[in-house]
Amino acid sequence: VYVGIDAGGTLVKLAYWKDGQLTFSKMPSTEAQSILDELRQEVNGEAICITGGKADWFAKDLPPATKRMVEFEATTLGVRELLGAQNPMVSSFVLTNIGTGTSIHYLDEHTSERATGIGLGGGTLMGLSAMLTGVHRYEDIVEGSLRGKRGAIDLTVQDIYVDAVPPIPGELTASNFGKAWSNREAAQKKDDQLAAITGMIGESIVTISAQIAVQYSTNDIVYIGSTLSSQSSLKQVCSSYTKIRNKIPHFIEQGEFSGALGALLAV
Ligand code: ATP
Ligand code: MG
Repeated sequence: VYVGIDAGGTLVKLAYWKDGQLTFSKMPSTEAQSILDELRQEVNGEAICITGGKADWFAKDLPPATKRMVEFEATTLGVRELLGAQNPMVSSFVLTNIGTGTSIHYLDEHTSERATGIGLGGGTLMGLSAMLTGVHRYEDIVEGSLRGKRGAIDLTVQDIYVDAVPPIPGELTASNFGKAWSNREAAQKKDDQLAAITGMIGESIVTISAQIAVQYSTNDIVYIGSTLSSQSSLKQVCSSYTKIRNKIPHFIEQGEFSGALGALLAV
């Protein structure tokens, strides 16, 4: 058995071969102890490679021979592998990894470099949602924001240019939460607040990613991270807002396991 582990700020991701099949799983870092116990007993350290910000912390409970890998290298390796199989036409692109925080890279066939990062990410979604609405569970936050509408909370460019043609696309957000101050009564619905939080985080990340794409002369932005798995509201925001910013969004299936897969490939 070979195992790749990405111990992130919030979730631990695993990639391993099981019955000849590549298998992925993830769990909150706080619940990873039982997996570590299993690995320690069943797997030889040389067959494990671990990456991620919490790698050193977790490795204390793993066999001493466990290999380490720099997070950025593991993620890059995994992304190239997944993208090669799913969308080989995209070869030079901005890679935006929305984890607990967000890290933005540029990759082409030969090189890769970290462009920048931003503290808005999945952790912000969890924290702001809990503070503002009292909703704690990730699934509840996603479901609420999918039901919610942003019109009572966010101010669009068109809202400012009343009865006029705006000089930039009217659907762009002029001010996230910009209506909530004067519109306090209407801005009370939790689902709407969750949608507005998601919108602010997604749009900010997209805006920076699009600017990085301009800097590196590419139109393609590949988004990965656990906040984008399945039908998440953040994924919808990133998809539509990237198009509004005249760039092409790409989402990789199992993209949140890129780091774990990269570590597995390096064992
Ligand atoms: P980082 O890369 O920044 O160290 P990470 O690798 O743990 O963090 P990801 O796993 O990519 O980050 O994403 C974590 C985010 O995914 C959380 O902040 C949350 O928004 C979302 N998420 C998805 N599923 C869950 C879950 N079951 N529990 C908690 N958060 C979840
Ligand atoms: Mg991560």
